[in-house]
Amino acid sequence: ADALTRAESLIGTIPDYPEPGILFRDITPLLADADAVRAVTDALIEPFAGRFDIVAGVEARGFLLAGAIAVAAGVGMMPIRKAGKLPRPAASVSYALEYGTATIEAHDDLTPGQRVLLVDDVLATGGTLIAAHELVAKLGGEVVGTAVLMELEALGGRAAVGDVHALFTA
Ligand code: 5GP
Repeated sequence: ADALTRAESLIGTIPDYPEPGILFRDITPLLADADAVRAVTDALIEPFAGRFDIVAGVEARGFLLAGAIAVAAGVGMMPIRKAGKLPRPAASVSYALEYGTATIEAHDDLTPGQRVLLVDDVLATGGTLIAAHELVAKLGGEVVGTAVLMELEALGGRAAVGDVHALFTA
């Protein structure tokens, strides 16, 4: 728990990024610290240990956590990417942003019924993780858990996504 408290203290807060009025949570100082990476990786896995076959990370910071989780848990990983980045997208899901829409895609490298842990760095409105759930379902996988480093409580993502394992709240 002390290691997690220390890890949390390494998350930065950047005002007016990427736009005026947004308070951006910057996880890169945490990622730069070996003990913090170890602590958050173990804590993200903990509720789901032994219950997932593959970890899916959402572009781009979700990839970093998914890679660490995959090695620590002894499973493979699946990148969920923004539209247009993958050579053989098998499914795509579009979702609303504050301004406009976004689309995520993935390859069909899941086996039917494969148990998927979904990971991202930050839960804000929940739009991204809801779309990621839908994407995994389209590919025949079963989402067994959703884990994030930080939940921005005021944005109501938890009500939208459902059960999310969040290590830190802001
Ligand atoms: P949502 O779809 O829940 O509104 O937004 C979550 C997505 O936006 C995640 O993929 C996350 O990486 C990114 N995001 C939103 N706000 C922040 C933030 O303050 N810091 C970081 N690192 N990512 C954010």
